[in-house]
Amino acid sequence: MSPVTAIRYAVSYAASAGALLCLTQVPGIWAKQAASLAYQPSDVTLVMQEFTVVLDAGHGGIDGGTQGEGILEKNLSLAITRRVEKHLAAAGIRTLMTRRDDTYVALEKRADFSNRHQPDAFVSIHLNADATTGNTSGLETYYCSRKRLGDMMRLRERLDLPKDEAIRDRRSEWLADILHKGIQATTGAENRGTRDSNYLVVMNTECPAVLIECGYLTNTAEARRLEDEAYQEKIAAAITDGLRRFLLASRMNPRRGIERNALAVAMPGPALEDGNP
Ligand SMILES: [Zn+2]
Repeated sequence: MSPVTAIRYAVSYAASAGALLCLTQVPGIWAKQAASLAYQPSDVTLVMQEFTVVLDAGHGGIDGGTQGEGILEKNLSLAITRRVEKHLAAAGIRTLMTRRDDTYVALEKRADFSNRHQPDAFVSIHLNADATTGNTSGLETYYCSRKRLGDMMRLRERLDLPKDEAIRDRRSEWLADILHKGIQATTGAENRGTRDSNYLVVMNTECPAVLIECGYLTNTAEARRLEDEAYQEKIAAAITDGLRRFLLASRMNPRRGIERNALAVAMPGPALEDGNP
């Protein structure tokens, strides 16, 4: 065992002990397995280097996304995503971007890019709009509970689960829950909940995937907050902190978030474009 491997095992055991000592109030099947970060930052950084996250800045190029208060969604989504990239890099996590500048990338290509690199998580950043009223504001986080059959078969093989056992992949829901709560707590944004959806980038990505609608550009007060750099930093830091906790917890127990002996799960419907006009 190399020194690096030895340290990784030590961190893993320390984290397991921390998980037993510190059970936080997280609902759902992962409730009793939430981990505390009871180990040294340097050790965590070492483990973090094993992870890859794909970041997806919504829209781009000819697809401006939504707009409000003089802000175009594609520009702000990229600005926030680049901040997340910096925070993840500082945490030692390998980061890949579906776009780094103002170029158009089709939704299918974004999902294909992610699947090709087999990351540990996929995070798409968007801004919202409400065409009917300027009053709506707040944070929404989307995930898809219906991954494709082929993906589920590969997952079953990877986790060495019996072929005839019905399983349900709830890791995206778990990741959505962690990131949503973290951003909401840090920014104080109105909580509009986590939602199950067929949005293409969260449905066609094999790994745990979420799409975060960071706020409404059509709400004057929220649009002003969203373009504030300090507010963007809060979002980026919260996403990074949440990803760190999710990745560590997943590494400790790769089957966490996988519901075994699951009741029959409905087959997925068609994938949808993201919900913005
Ligand atoms: Zn969007």
